[in-house]
Amino acid sequence: MSSPLDNDLIAAMATPPGQGGIGVIRLSGGDAFAVARQICGESLVPRQARFVRFREADTKQVIDEGLALAFTGPASFTGEDVVELHCHGSPVVLQRLLDEACGLGARLARPGEFSERAFLHGKMDLAQAEAVADLIASTSVSAARAAVRSLQGEFSRIIRDTAEQLTQLRVFVEACIDFPDEDVEFIQAGEIQQKVRAVRDDLADLRDRSQQGRLLNEGLAVALIGEPNAGKSSLLNALSGEDAAIVTDIPGTTRDLLKVDLVMHGIPLRLVDTAGLRDSEDAVEKIGVARAREQARSADLVLVVKDATQIAGEEVAANLDDLLRDIETMPGQVILVINKQDLLRQRPAVSVADCPVCWVSALQGTGLAELRDQVLASVGARPAEAQFTARARHIDSMDQALGCLDIALTNLAEDQPTELVAEELWSAHNALGQIVGSVTPDDLLGRIFSEFCIGK
Ligand code: GDP
Repeated sequence: MSSPLDNDLIAAMATPPGQGGIGVIRLSGGDAFAVARQICGESLVPRQARFVRFREADTKQVIDEGLALAFTGPASFTGEDVVELHCHGSPVVLQRLLDEACGLGARLARPGEFSERAFLHGKMDLAQAEAVADLIASTSVSAARAAVRSLQGEFSRIIRDTAEQLTQLRVFVEACIDFPDEDVEFIQAGEIQQKVRAVRDDLADLRDRSQQGRLLNEGLAVALIGEPNAGKSSLLNALSGEDAAIVTDIPGTTRDLLKVDLVMHGIPLRLVDTAGLRDSEDAVEKIGVARAREQARSADLVLVVKDATQIAGEEVAANLDDLLRDIETMPGQVILVINKQDLLRQRPAVSVADCPVCWVSALQGTGLAELRDQVLASVGARPAEAQFTARARHIDSMDQALGCLDIALTNLAEDQPTELVAEELWSAHNALGQIVGSVTPDDLLGRIFSEFCIGK
């Protein structure tokens, strides 16, 4: 991570690798304008697009021609002097321009370094910087819309408002500590409890809405497990609408993991088809089975696929119990999918406590709409309610803050010393501060920005 004082000149390709109509090199910090002058052969006027010839500084050989744009800090994306060189989208031309900039003193930017500088110069807060990355990575219209709202500061504003309410509470509680005789009545009258509870309830509501944003943003991992030949690969194909998995009728064909990304009602979903779960002597298949278990354990949701022709009602329930124990999963995180319903004249009654059952035919495509709805219902996804994107770390911080507020409420209810209440309010405030970056533990920025793409 760079410190706020680092202002050395960084450069990177801002457009993706490969050929395209236009490619952009971005420079920020240090002598950006001086370096641009040498490459463009003229001084750039801030905020005016100039059509120029980009040249090698030494030989004056023309590399390309295109547009150059300059922004004077702090009125720029990073808050520093920024130059954009728009050339033709040729990887060779872009590399030559980048080499030229580096030859003149720039260094290659690290992933996310432009956004990190924007954060460090106060151009955006941490949640907004993350929203930039989320917008770029968004895989559905709903996710992109939600990311733009976060980018425009809607999420941050609510977090800041809640933090502000906590500040006022802390001022009040700390005044009670400093002047115990005057305000003790307020505490007894339960006014603080009321206020803490109000903040807590608002935060719990925000956490719930943020969870919807996290689902939109980070998506869901859904594992398909079951015996060989139950129709897992066929179901994956039917759900994804592509022939991505190899479907054969020789048991044990899907020996390794096959992943397909799709969007279900706006929620990005990674479906993982696993090797069938069965005891096998085959060394390769054994590895596949072990990976299937691992995948099921870490998934948000597990679809246990059964062949309708191979089941008897009571047995399914007992087998499922064993399976859930094996993959250390709760019934609520599982949907029992009974496939090949087209082969049955009559459905046997199957019911498993706490576990929804969906009857489908992957072959004929029946029951899939209900299965899709059940997938979203099982993870509590309500895409229409996702107003902004959020990340797992935001939810963690809100959980921390909620935990502290709960302890504060208990302390108040038990008439514990006011200092303890103040301490919990302080911790809750800190946890929220980490979301927008007003509080940044040492490794937080490094962790966040290293996941960005280069040039962003
Ligand atoms: P996996 O081993 O669990 O991945 O099973 P596959 O998807 O490879 O399917 C095994 C066999 O069952 C193939 O011959 C499929 O065509 C067949 N199959 C899969 N789904 C259905 C279905 O819904 N109905 C019928 N009749 N056959 C199916």
